[in-house]
Amino acid sequence: MNLKQNITKIKSDIKNYCHQYSRNQSDVLLLSVSKTKPLEQIISAHEIGLKHFGENYLQDALPKIKKTAELNLNLIWHFIGAIQSNKTADIANNFSWVHCLDRAKIINRLAQQRDESLPPLNCCIQVNFDDDDDKNGLTDYDKIVELGNLINSKKNLRLRGIMGIGKNHNDFTAQKKSLQKLKNIYKNLQKEFDVDILSMGMSGDLEAAIATGSTCVRIGSDIFGKRQ
Ligand SMILES: *Cc1c(COP(=O)(O)O)cnc(C)c1O
Repeated sequence: MNLKQNITKIKSDIKNYCHQYSRNQSDVLLLSVSKTKPLEQIISAHEIGLKHFGENYLQDALPKIKKTAELNLNLIWHFIGAIQSNKTADIANNFSWVHCLDRAKIINRLAQQRDESLPPLNCCIQVNFDDDDDKNGLTDYDKIVELGNLINSKKNLRLRGIMGIGKNHNDFTAQKKSLQKLKNIYKNLQKEFDVDILSMGMSGDLEAAIATGSTCVRIGSDIFGKRQ
């Protein structure tokens, strides 16, 4: 695995897809998913030019966040895993973003527990847009709006958008068809909320995600190599 080559490749893929699908590259945030990967690789990735890092497991993430802060690296941490209610205090106070909100209880706790000195926590609601039994997230549009309003009612939370995980199709057309469902939900939400994040697209469906309008791609294995 060559981190520098991988990052160069991903960045040039994003650039090329943006060109191909008439997107502004500055509208697509690259979130590097560093779950299970060691601190050293995160530091190297930062030196090569990555800034946003996504983690799924709190206990794995906290030491990395602490160490990189001690080194004065200005990283932006996104929590992209399922949130258990006994973990909300640490998530509220160590991350700048959460991507997987689908319960009022968690939203209330994050708002209650985020320290007043911190800027608002950036929030995305997770949507299960392809009726996938294995995935978390809301399926009901009205419920998404309800949680959006709840988030916006908290002064230390800020609704940024929605996130979803595409079905594992290995066919470009099928991927696009799947992701288009999330895009349509996002378009409707834009009429009700001031949102700018459509968080979709991973290593396996990056091109389809950019083609469909993603504004945040979450890339793990194509940057850091396969996970164990
Ligand atoms: C692990 C993970 C990713 C990254 O997946 P890759 O296929 O390795 O790019 C993206 N989003 C979520 C929510 C994840 O859990």
